[in-house]
Amino acid sequence: MPRKPNSPANLDLFDAPQTSGAISPDLPSIDNLEQMYDIYNAQYFGGRLPRVKITFSKRMLAAGCYFPQRLEIRISEKYHAIFPDEVYDTLKHEMIHVIHLKHNAEFKKMAKRIGASVRANEHPDLRRPPKYLYVCPHCHIEYPRTKRLRLASCGRCSKRGYDKRFKLILKKNLKQMETK
Ligand SMILES: [Zn+2]
Ligand SMILES: [Zn+2]
Repeated sequence: MPRKPNSPANLDLFDAPQTSGAISPDLPSIDNLEQMYDIYNAQYFGGRLPRVKITFSKRMLAAGCYFPQRLEIRISEKYHAIFPDEVYDTLKHEMIHVIHLKHNAEFKKMAKRIGASVRANEHPDLRRPPKYLYVCPHCHIEYPRTKRLRLASCGRCSKRGYDKRFKLILKKNLKQMETK
């Protein structure tokens, strides 16, 4: 389903103009992530993981990515601006990739053990046609999404993180409306 370039579906509503280099206010700092890396490393990996570089990407659609040659975990700012509470899950997931590059049986076992997602999560907006249409009860901006949202509030209206006053309401299930 092609979309017009300027339709609301293509607006990244959470990507408000920001000063260069600024990280979304809900996201932990690189320092925090490095501290958590050390904590998870001790807690779940027996301290065996090497130190890696942790960076944010403003563009990456996948929640996170591990680059073995660079020993670098990259965390998507774009993805976590929508799902800020998943950032440590992403970190754990990418940490498993430091020892298991693929989502193989070993990876899955480890993910289960430490409570990390097995799949790599992706930014919901851009890759697949949306199946659900959410709307903000306050400003009425529409949010087309490919996945159901659990707890999400309007990025325009919510000042800091999730705000139940602006909880997005499911307006249409586009999947059910498809004719073919
Ligand atoms: Zn992965
Ligand atoms: Zn709103």
